[in-house]
Amino acid sequence: MDCIFCEIVRGNVPSDKVYEDELVVAFRDIRPEAPVHVLIAPREHLAGIADAEERHAGLLGRLLLAAKGVARSEGVADAGFRLVVNQGDDGGQAVQHLHLHLLGGRKLRGLG
Ligand code: 5GP
Ligand code: ZN
Repeated sequence: MDCIFCEIVRGNVPSDKVYEDELVVAFRDIRPEAPVHVLIAPREHLAGIADAEERHAGLLGRLLLAAKGVARSEGVADAGFRLVVNQGDDGGQAVQHLHLHLLGGRKLRGLG
């Protein structure tokens, strides 16, 4: 399969990983838009949030909990941070493997 995030999850493409467990991998965005910009992705390939089904409910919860943990380990939990999921063309999704953006370390304004 031709998916860059699947390759990162498997370790075939290098990345700066900050967290991983049996379901989730978190790694720094290659083009950060904030001092802290981490992507949190499931190991399972899901093209986007629009493809999530009822059976993914637990996985989606784990993504959010991983994001919370990374926010703490990156030192932005108390100051605040933003979680973003882009979906499809209008949502600005460039990589078709579900991921959360964790953004923090500066005052974020607007929603694009
Ligand atoms: P999207 O627009 O799909 O929500 O976000 C994709 C993000 O993945 C972008 O912020 C982009 O900089 C990041 N990205 C794309 N390719 C790579 C890569 O090979 N490695 C890493 N670490 N980030 C990537
Ligand atoms: Zn994938």
